[in-house]
Amino acid sequence: MKKDKVLLTGGTGFIGSHTAVELIQAGYEVEILDNLYNSKITALDNIEKITGVRPKFYEVDIRDGDALAKVFAEGNFDTVIHFAGLKAVAESVEKPLTYYEVNIGGTINLLECMQEFGVHKIIFSSSATVYGEPDSPLCVENLPVGRNLANPYGRTKYFIEEILRDVAISDPEFKVTILRYFNPIGAHASGLLGEDPNDKPNNLMPIVMKVAAGEIPELSIFGNDYDTPDGTCIRDYIHVVDLAKGHVAAVEKIGDVEQVQVYNLGTGRGLSVMEIVKAFSKASGMALPHKIVGRRAGDLAALCADPSHAEEMLGWKTELTIDDAMRDTLNYLEKQGVKIK
Ligand code: NAD
Ligand code: UDP
Repeated sequence: MKKDKVLLTGGTGFIGSHTAVELIQAGYEVEILDNLYNSKITALDNIEKITGVRPKFYEVDIRDGDALAKVFAEGNFDTVIHFAGLKAVAESVEKPLTYYEVNIGGTINLLECMQEFGVHKIIFSSSATVYGEPDSPLCVENLPVGRNLANPYGRTKYFIEEILRDVAISDPEFKVTILRYFNPIGAHASGLLGEDPNDKPNNLMPIVMKVAAGEIPELSIFGNDYDTPDGTCIRDYIHVVDLAKGHVAAVEKIGDVEQVQVYNLGTGRGLSVMEIVKAFSKASGMALPHKIVGRRAGDLAALCADPSHAEEMLGWKTELTIDDAMRDTLNYLEKQGVKIK
């Protein structure tokens, strides 16, 4: 059977570029749309080096409805994976309207185009952040979402999930898969793709990478007085290649979706910030400089995926370990010419 033609919005970004590789290697035709706000055009060269295929690229902003419509008029897509958006939590507090405009406004433009051009299958990059402050640290998809969300970024993800549900109700042809990512880390084993944000990093691993490169003197660990075994916060860190493969599984199954399906993509195992520091130090042979500082506002002590629904329905589960993620991160840094201090 002919495989879907897939449009990746945000496809030159961290998760999108890895997903492009996995989709191409699984035999899908992939096209990419991105405005290069937080990624570089060289991602296309690297996707081509890994797969031998250079996806068609549209430099388009999802806020530009006319430009989007031209892409859809040319593209004849079967499925859209919607990665494009802004994701810096602290920035979203300072610039909420920009976040609502890009993430929500952009998604509305995209859905309007999909409707206009008869494309009905969409996979959306949501986040564990929609669980807010869950009653249990182990998140199952049917927990309530949208309660006590700590920032506008999280609210955009929650609102988009709700918009997608409404669209699926209004138009039964729509098939929506919502993927709630936990904490993506790591890089492609080739060292050609990895996390390379254009702006100041906010997440733990990009900061660890900058400390290792000597660009930041030390990692500030936000609190060691949480109710966890070593006092530092616990998260579910998922290797980006496992995450990318989760998208391939979701594309394979999206034809069977009735209206909306939601999946957690995580490992099901939590690691503390201190364990991440140790894993990085073990892989790199350097003692990662760090200090304990006060808690970061809005942080939860522990958050972890229950990935069993994805395993049952998509036949997907993670295969790579934290040591694989650290090895691949270091290899990526080395390929970028970064010397570990
Ligand atoms: P990323 O910033 O590397 O990728 C997002 C891409 O979207 C970038 O290439 C950027 O240039 C593009 N983009 C931004 N604004 C755009 C616009 N107006 N028009 C067109 N393109 C635009 O981020 P990522 O880590 O690959 O995340 C991908 C998606 O997954 C995002 O929606 C993010 O919110 C979500 N997500 C990420 C994480 C994470 O920790 N990385 C966790 C949960 C969810
Ligand atoms: N963290 C930290 N120092 C940093 C950045 C993050 O101690 O400079 C901690 C943070 O408190 C959280 C974990 O690392 O417990 C993961 O944070 P990140 O921002 O990467 O993801 P999220 O909070 O969204 O799960």
